[in-house]
Amino acid sequence: MLFAAPHVAVAINTPSGQRNAGPGILEVIVGHELVHALGHDKHNSHLMAQTMQKEMGDRAAQDRLRAGTIYLPPLSLSDESVRTLQSIWA
Ligand SMILES: [Zn+2]
Repeated sequence: MLFAAPHVAVAINTPSGQRNAGPGILEVIVGHELVHALGHDKHNSHLMAQTMQKEMGDRAAQDRLRAGTIYLPPLSLSDESVRTLQSIWA
């Protein structure tokens, strides 16, 4: 059986126009959704924040997201999220 790889793109608006978001932003999105898939229902902070602001770099490779005062990547879970996951999986 052959499966075609889905194409996923995240576009962001920059002062010089729209372009694809850098790999760091995609990493954060995938990480966030993976933690949801592990049973973390709610949004709190860090990787599991409800709202993140884009912090565009001069190049896509420098793009990051900001959740409050936390810049991602690197992926960072709050202590509360760690406890939540431990309560599910320990
Ligand atoms: Zn979410």
